[in-house]
Amino acid sequence: MKKVAILGSTGSIGTQTLEVISDNKNIFEVELLTAFSNHTLLINQALLHKPKAIIFGDRSKEKVILNSLKNEEIEIYFGEESLNNFLNYCNPDIVLTALVGKSGLIPTINTIKKGIDLALANKETLVVAGSIINKLCKEKKVNIYPVDSEHSAIFQCLVGESRDTIDKIILTASGGPFRNKKLNELKNISKKEALNHPNWEMGEKITIDSSTLMNKGLEVIEAKFLFDIDIQKIKVVVHPQSIIHSMVEFNDGSIKAQLGEPDMKLPIQYALFSGKRLKNKFTHYDFIKNNTLTFEEPCLKTFNNLKLAFDAGKLGGNAPCILNASNEIVVDAFLNEKIRYLDMTKIIEDSLNKISYIASPNLDQLIETDIVTRKYTLDKINKL
Ligand code: NDP
Ligand code: MG
Repeated sequence: MKKVAILGSTGSIGTQTLEVISDNKNIFEVELLTAFSNHTLLINQALLHKPKAIIFGDRSKEKVILNSLKNEEIEIYFGEESLNNFLNYCNPDIVLTALVGKSGLIPTINTIKKGIDLALANKETLVVAGSIINKLCKEKKVNIYPVDSEHSAIFQCLVGESRDTIDKIILTASGGPFRNKKLNELKNISKKEALNHPNWEMGEKITIDSSTLMNKGLEVIEAKFLFDIDIQKIKVVVHPQSIIHSMVEFNDGSIKAQLGEPDMKLPIQYALFSGKRLKNKFTHYDFIKNNTLTFEEPCLKTFNNLKLAFDAGKLGGNAPCILNASNEIVVDAFLNEKIRYLDMTKIIEDSLNKISYIASPNLDQLIETDIVTRKYTLDKINKL
């Protein structure tokens, strides 16, 4: 049995991970579940999957959680400190991180330090500290199995290939709900419109990021670190059907692609099973029924976030950390209807211009960059 710790079990990826585990009870068992605000779902998940331990974000729900699980042999912990040190309470074979934003950074680093493999959905962590994480993974011989569908596709395309034959990594993008819009048509986009993704059902933060193409930008940086590849070799192609999940072009002109119905359970299962195939009941893609696959160039003028991410990725150092921190704050402000849609990219660009650049930051400097950027971005928002 493979023991799985799921960080962020109540979210979109977390709940789908539990579905995969439920379908494969002879292979996986749940070792740990964590949640931030949804205590009702966490309690239900704990009752169903009987993990060794659970961790919940805040203590205000302590009574109800303890009471609901009083007949279970489940250890219960609270707060950020407990989440960061979750490996004090459990002993997983693999950790699936489905936390959102920078909250995944310290738990991820602590997982690698203990030499435990990761199934990584939480792309922001790699964006913030990719070089540090890569160095640690090498030292501790830890594997990262990507959960993000594009990176899972690339990972699959690279099986049996040598890295020095890669000519290009081609990341596909659905284009989001505003694919055909011009910049001036985005001025009055509402939260409801931005949360309406055409192909995927995901958490709110990544759904907004998908609409602005920041998600693709974060994925470009994620790919740079996951596959240790020069950012100049990463291209983005809009493919509205989301059937080709990404491709690799090799130096002989061959292109390998991974295809399938848009269903996150497939890359989740592949990552949990450490890059091995597992039979399942998911819908298979039918080329005859759905015979149109189209491709377009992304418009960087309309979706300036993608350009900002490429620039930050090229610059390296703490620039991706600034990009991410500022983005987390503006997305939150947009979701709380404090700023308008196009303010997001303007504020991120300003943060990238104003926050001091550090070429080779250590972890403390990245954490400091994150704090300073969040404060700067919040001040900007309050002055609007
Ligand atoms: P959700 O918002 O649906 O879920 C996030 C999870 O993290 C929830 O369990 C939430 O708990 C918990 N959480 C949120 N904030 C904090 C915090 N500050 N501290 C601790 N825990 C927290 O996100 P998704 O599942 O959509 O995405 C998770 C990650 O996976 C993101 O990095 C995203 O980019 C990536 N990803 C997601 C995809 C998708 O299809 N959803 C596809 C590819 C990548 P609670 O709900 O209890 O508040
Ligand atoms: Mg993706």
